Amino acid sequence: MGPVDPWRGTVVDPPNVPAFRDAPLADEMERRLGLPAWLDRDTNVAALAERWLGAARGCRDFLYVTVSTGLGGAIVRDGSLFQGPDGTAGELGHICLMPVDGPRCGCGGRGHLEAISSGSGLARQAEEALSSGTVPSAAAWRFGWAAEPDPLLLPAPAVSPFLSARAAGGRITGKDVADGEEAGDAVCRLLMERARRAFAIACVGWVDAFDPEKIVIGGTVAQNQGEKWLAPAREAVARTAFRVPAARVEIVAAELGADVGLVGAWPLVAERFAVPEWRAKRPARGPAST
Ligand SMILES: [Zn+2]
Repeated sequence: MGPVDPWRGTVVDPPNVPAFRDAPLADEMERRLGLPAWLDRDTNVAALAERWLGAARGCRDFLYVTVSTGLGGAIVRDGSLFQGPDGTAGELGHICLMPVDGPRCGCGGRGHLEAISSGSGLARQAEEALSSGTVPSAAAWRFGWAAEPDPLLLPAPAVSPFLSARAAGGRITGKDVADGEEAGDAVCRLLMERARRAFAIACVGWVDAFDPEKIVIGGTVAQNQGEKWLAPAREAVARTAFRVPAARVEIVAAELGADVGLVGAWPLVAERFAVPEWRAKRPARGPAST
């Protein structure tokens, strides 16, 4: 759930949970528990977990990216979360890759990485492909260096028997699209291939912009795909990112799985407990009252 204001401990403007707009969640937790509480975005907490016990152990500069229902990120710079003055930095899924006829993003934008490569984005594109009979701009994603035969060199297929069958059983999910690719469905294969390429292109930009030691990739979509998801990102970075950071960076799978947010709670508290700046914008904490 994001974005949040980590200093005030409030949820700012969550697109999927409007009732929580400006909710002082950390203060409410303190009031009910009688214990100090801090709030941060799930991906930031996950990054702290991966640094403590997971794939980013020993790293001072790395990116954490989760590809699941949404596509979120966190930037760790010189050993600390990079927050920005509003605490919203690190939303790596909302860079724009298809400004003209890209799919709508959950944030209201168009053609963002999340809309192309996340589970919800894949589901929405699949539903649009079913209703319109086309997949927009497939040709724009042909890479000269992609493995042959390149599925994006084929004409965009107009129908998807696999998706039609799944849609008859309820709403299509991102997993349906991945399953469709495995089953040989051409529309699903095109959508998955584009999702992996969009993610790979984004990785190149992140490597050039942040010079990270690692990009740690979690989330169910990426983890279910495994090397199939990671390999195009490594290949794109090796071929097209700046030479020096490309030679340094390692693109690796996250290690902590679904409980990563719980694991990150301890380093979050440990980091903020004794630092007054983290409470500066919140009202003074009095005794718990009802
Ligand atoms: Zn977006």
